[in-house]
Amino acid sequence: MIKTLRFWIMLLISFAMIGILSITLFSGYFVTKENLTNNTLEMNRVYSMKLARLTEEVFNGMQSNLQVKASDIAGNINDAEKLTKKLSDLITSSKNFNSLSVVNRNGVVLATSPELGIVGQTLETPGPKEALYVRKPLISAPYKAATGRLLILVSTPLWNEKNEYLGFLAGTIYLQEDNIIQNILDEHFSLDGSYVWVVDKRGMLIYHPDAERIGKSVVKNEVAQKVLRRDSGAQKVTNFEGKEFLAGYTFVKSSKWGVVSQTPYAVSIAPLAGLVNKMLLYALPFVLFFFFLTIILTERLSSPLRKLAMYSVELKEKGGLSEEVDIPTWYYEAKQLTETIHEYAKKQEQTVKDFKERSYTDALTGLRNRRYGEEVLAKWITAKKQFSMIMIDIDHFKRVNDTYGHQVGDDVLKFLAGKMNEVVREADVCVRLGGEEFIILLVKTDIKEAVMIAERLRINVSSTLCPTNEYLTISSGIGVYNDHTESIEDLFNRVDVALYRAKMEGRNRVVQS
Ligand code: GH3
Ligand code: MG
Ligand code: MG
Repeated sequence: MIKTLRFWIMLLISFAMIGILSITLFSGYFVTKENLTNNTLEMNRVYSMKLARLTEEVFNGMQSNLQVKASDIAGNINDAEKLTKKLSDLITSSKNFNSLSVVNRNGVVLATSPELGIVGQTLETPGPKEALYVRKPLISAPYKAATGRLLILVSTPLWNEKNEYLGFLAGTIYLQEDNIIQNILDEHFSLDGSYVWVVDKRGMLIYHPDAERIGKSVVKNEVAQKVLRRDSGAQKVTNFEGKEFLAGYTFVKSSKWGVVSQTPYAVSIAPLAGLVNKMLLYALPFVLFFFFLTIILTERLSSPLRKLAMYSVELKEKGGLSEEVDIPTWYYEAKQLTETIHEYAKKQEQTVKDFKERSYTDALTGLRNRRYGEEVLAKWITAKKQFSMIMIDIDHFKRVNDTYGHQVGDDVLKFLAGKMNEVVREADVCVRLGGEEFIILLVKTDIKEAVMIAERLRINVSSTLCPTNEYLTISSGIGVYNDHTESIEDLFNRVDVALYRAKMEGRNRVVQS
């Protein structure tokens, strides 16, 4: 079945609404995801920067601690007991180091605190060797000590008053035990799975919440690679377990370490779960409201055209005859169509009326014609109405035609028609059957009344000068119809006989049957 305009408008609007809603949800989802990701990246970047600064400050503090004590230690380089006492004081006050030691220029340990059992030994490990070699304040790369511990050496050189190199004063940080770096960074370990790790300039983990991983190489990690290239920033990264993280990283200039703070990607975008549902839930009242509004508007929009369509179907079925209908015309197209169709219907109605009128009218006289007369008679007989009929014939009409011509004859016929109209009443019907044959049909009229009207016509005609400038007479036959078994033909014959009698009896008279 062919669909209505209303159906198509609703379909169109539904499509548009679903489309807009989808775009909104889709873009809302992705914008939120991007925001969450960017926020987490930025948070971790700033965080790694703060931690880097903090670490740097702590290490600078440690270095200056050692430097402050350096001359005092240098002055007592030959007194092992005093050295031990001074180291013990220092380690108690600073608490930044796991152990302290004084090593002479040959790498021999002179004193330690706490007691490590290495006094008198020559150190061959990379940290002390580097310190002896560079003779400058140093933070060593992580290395394995003779004890098997993984550690970092923070050292400062010792010089005597003659500026001769004596060895170094060093503090150690045991990377896999409770240490200062842990103290700084462990606090920042968070429950949501975020954590911090620190990598040294060779790509080795100095700090990681998982102590097992400390000392392992992470050079394959994308962020570690960036930090080793001295970059700072933030990016998405996959860790060695294949898990995705959003990481912020900062390069530490003094130690050349990289500090990385990272949050699991899944945790960062967790708020997205249920976001679409929530957005849908919030949007639902608005969607329903606008849908309801749409239904009303669609109805208002389509109703004029629907009514017009129904009206035009009615016009087609009734052949142009139809009552004007009330069609809301609040927009241009509907207004124009309604006006045009109404105008067309009115014209059509008038045309039909005119046509009907013409088909019932005698062209010469303007009286009703034979067809109309027959229809009226049939109607009255069916309705069992009583009526009378007057049949009229002009006396010696041939003479008029012969003497004055056919044209004047026609004028005389028109003259008679005018007289007939003058004497009849509203409900009576004057008919020209053809030629110069006329009848008058008088509804609810008895024979007496009919004779009266016929007489009035006869006198009126005969006392008026007709178009020939002479006086003209007419003869009439009259019949009343009240026996409803009689046929129309019989009635006509009866009245015709009466008319014939009027002619026979000398014309200019009325005879009833
Ligand atoms: P009577 O008194 O016996 O009626 O004589 P009459 O001459 O009137 O005779 P009849 O009624 O038979 O005449 C009919 C004439 O009417 C014949 C014809 O010339 C004339 N006639 C018929 N129709 C028309 C018409 O349409 N126009 C004109 N001008 N004459 C018509
Ligand atoms: Mg005649
Ligand atoms: Mg005649």
